[in-house]
Amino acid sequence: MSNPQIPKEGVAVVFDKCNGPIRVDKHHHVVQPSELKPGEVLVRVEYTGVCHTDLHAWKGDWPAAPKTPLVGGHEGAGHVVAIADGTTTTLKVGDAVGIKWLADSCLNCENCRLGSEATCDLAQCSGYTVDGSFQQYAVSFARHLTPIPDGLPLEVAAPILCAGVTVWKALKEANAKPGDWVVISGAGGGLGHLAVQYAAAVGYRVVGIDTGDDKRKLLASYGADTFIDFKQFGGEGKLIEEVKRVCDGKGPHAAIITSAGGAAYNDALEYLRPHGTLVAVGLPPDTYIKANVFWTVFKSLRVVGSYVGNRQDAIEALDFAARGKVKPQIVVEPLENLEKVYHRMEQGAVPGRIVLKNF
Ligand code: NAD
Ligand code: ZN
Repeated sequence: MSNPQIPKEGVAVVFDKCNGPIRVDKHHHVVQPSELKPGEVLVRVEYTGVCHTDLHAWKGDWPAAPKTPLVGGHEGAGHVVAIADGTTTTLKVGDAVGIKWLADSCLNCENCRLGSEATCDLAQCSGYTVDGSFQQYAVSFARHLTPIPDGLPLEVAAPILCAGVTVWKALKEANAKPGDWVVISGAGGGLGHLAVQYAAAVGYRVVGIDTGDDKRKLLASYGADTFIDFKQFGGEGKLIEEVKRVCDGKGPHAAIITSAGGAAYNDALEYLRPHGTLVAVGLPPDTYIKANVFWTVFKSLRVVGSYVGNRQDAIEALDFAARGKVKPQIVVEPLENLEKVYHRMEQGAVPGRIVLKNF
């Protein structure tokens, strides 16, 4: 099944080696329907969010390097234009779908069966192990594409496909109940500003930690109970004292760390109240969480890693957006701006998410 209007070439943003030049390829080969393998789907990507993970990938920050050359991107929203012959799926040409980080998994191993699809040994990651959404036409896998609800604009859906699903899942891992204090550290960024909204939507009391007036104002508009500017509470445990102070003097029940820098992690272990949960989400390179064993035991703390979410988490995360409970703060720019967006992101100068328009 295919749409006959598929061109032979399209625009893609590509790098050939980590930290190397980022080039806009206006003659990038578009995989033709006849080239698709069973299970694959060709998506006309219309919008794609830019996640800090894409920046980590380009910089080669993590232990396993991405494939190269690489078309990054894993918050793609668009329409199905072709489905490989021999594919069993309920998708149809013309359906609105999302490309998330987890491009594929086997769905048949212990991890997949337990709903932890991201830890499948056969997992493929969009914009890392396979080409992603920084292109007009992307090949993805039918069984992991996410249906986008009717009426949800694609540019709004895009940031939900990584940032939204990841923080929604992380909040589930936080083990909190309505009325509990939850700290979001990195709260003004792509993941963080959505975490604040999901947390508020399910009744948590939210403390956002980030820096700058733009982010302070953004978070106030979501009903965050408190904003703490980490640069104003710099030295000698002052941030820890302030977080405890605003959370009834006892500290929060949970902390979701969505910062791309490492500093936020160890503070969290100090300010959590007994039985508190630290949910590790942000992925700074070469960073270790240093937990004092005595206090970890004495305060009965939990440290949990949370890695994106599964297909159901993605559907739930989009549903919050479709119902207007969560509204990504987006600025839409042309696909060609990707490199400039990376520079701004590196400086912490992107409140919310930048979404690129792939046409
Ligand atoms: P972003 O750049 O949009 O946001 C990061 C925010 O952290 C910025 O607003 C920045 O000002 C803030 N920050 C920096 N240092 C801080 C500190 N010490 N305390 C508090 N805030 C601080 O990035 P993003 O796209 O939201 O991604 C954040 C991180 O999450 C990245 O490392 C990314 O790779 C990772 N990530 C993880 C998963 C997962 O599955 N665990 C999924 C997606 C992204
Ligand atoms: Zn991401």
